[in-house]
Amino acid sequence: MGKSGDLRTLLFQFKPDFSNQTIQASVVQTWQFAKADTFTLFVGEGLKIDSLKHPEGFTWKRNGKKISCSVDSAGRYTIQLYYSGKPIAAKNPPWDGGLVWRKDPSGKNWLGVSCQGQGAYTWWPAPLDHLQEADTVEFTAVYPSDLFFKGNGELVHNWEYGNLRTTTWQTTYPINLYNITVNIADYEHFSEKLLRADGSELEISYYPLRVNLEKAKKQFQQTIPMLKCFENAFGMYPCSNDGFSVVETAYAGMEHQGAIAYGNGYKDGYGGADYSGVGILFDFILIHESGHEWWGNSVTAMNPEDFWMQEAFCTYAEMVYVNCRFGAQAALKYINAKKRLVDNIHPILGKKDSGIDMYTKGALMVHTLSAFASTNEQWEKVLKDFAVSMKFQKVSTEMLVNWFSANLEGVSPVFFYQYLTLAKPPILEYYVRKTESGFVVKYRINNALQGFEMPIFWNSSEPPKRTICNGSWQEFTVSGLEEPSPDSTQTYFLAAP
Ligand SMILES: [Zn+2]
Repeated sequence: MGKSGDLRTLLFQFKPDFSNQTIQASVVQTWQFAKADTFTLFVGEGLKIDSLKHPEGFTWKRNGKKISCSVDSAGRYTIQLYYSGKPIAAKNPPWDGGLVWRKDPSGKNWLGVSCQGQGAYTWWPAPLDHLQEADTVEFTAVYPSDLFFKGNGELVHNWEYGNLRTTTWQTTYPINLYNITVNIADYEHFSEKLLRADGSELEISYYPLRVNLEKAKKQFQQTIPMLKCFENAFGMYPCSNDGFSVVETAYAGMEHQGAIAYGNGYKDGYGGADYSGVGILFDFILIHESGHEWWGNSVTAMNPEDFWMQEAFCTYAEMVYVNCRFGAQAALKYINAKKRLVDNIHPILGKKDSGIDMYTKGALMVHTLSAFASTNEQWEKVLKDFAVSMKFQKVSTEMLVNWFSANLEGVSPVFFYQYLTLAKPPILEYYVRKTESGFVVKYRINNALQGFEMPIFWNSSEPPKRTICNGSWQEFTVSGLEEPSPDSTQTYFLAAP
């Protein structure tokens, strides 16, 4: 489906009624069109459009869950939709999303949203996600004054009158529609500053529930070291003017831009658990969701089928963090533990959901990609160049594949398509034969696509022998007594000796 028109600004007014989980709201949408065109807004279950104000040259028709819109010439169109009702409440956020109505431990109201899977239209009239980003979002909430609203970006104003409060947040960086968020709860606020490599300061803000303030102060000590690692590896935090914020949510987490949703219970690992032996050293949700500020929010998948790149590179970012904080051995152990969570049942690029593989297998593919570089420094530079050159861009799989093929020697597009379009990873077939003075090793990738090549290291000598494997039989000889075996930790393949 093609994209028609560009969404420029969104201006929300939002009033929740906690007693019956309904909302009353409006959104002003400014669209830019290069020619006469049509587009569709979707309206989620339980929402009613009370009115739609529009300029001349704009027509619309409500058709069930859709509002079919058309503009009769090029230009800028600003429409205002008033909507109300009881939108879908999330059953199992963040996976099965919608508005999240909860009570905090002291019985106070706590509202959030998570709609990455379903789409923003579950709670406001919106175009389908992944076809649009907005350039500017301003979000005003009106709500009981004993609570506080944290949205995306910078605080514009915060007024209290009687028992109501009106708070406005604004971001002027491009933002995916599923990242637009509302968090209203009895929040505490504390902040600190990160002194960055270029001498500037980044404002860091935290919004834990009031009851969790002390836990948050302790747990979020991980934030500044993490941001230093990520800025060093992927370039400056993209939305600098907005500052970086973490907001406590009633669900595990989400990469809401400039307002990272955090619900990991102030525990390390994933809710206190870990399978790698390394992950327990840090707060998985804090590190993973923050990694999305670079991989997802800044470098954004162009189409739904490109979405794997956000999760693959963000999962790889966890390894980058481990390497930065705990060293190369821990990082290698961490990334290799991801193998336990690869299914290899459906291709990542395919009609069927590959499930967790776009995270784990995707990250293992990036790890394998790094082995094409001749030094760590070269790989670190290539990865950072990619993040910086694609900053705030929508990137397709093809763009990504071509970029790395042009910027990392030995890499060709088929390297990526081997991992992305086949259910199984590369399968290494090899034979080792003893000779008088050592060994002969014959090897090939037996499910290689035409033109596929990957580095494989062999344990036998110091330094380990590095071979470039493809679909053809090759061989090498080594002297010595130790029988060579492929090193499965440096690159990702299955071995069939
Ligand atoms: Zn993620």
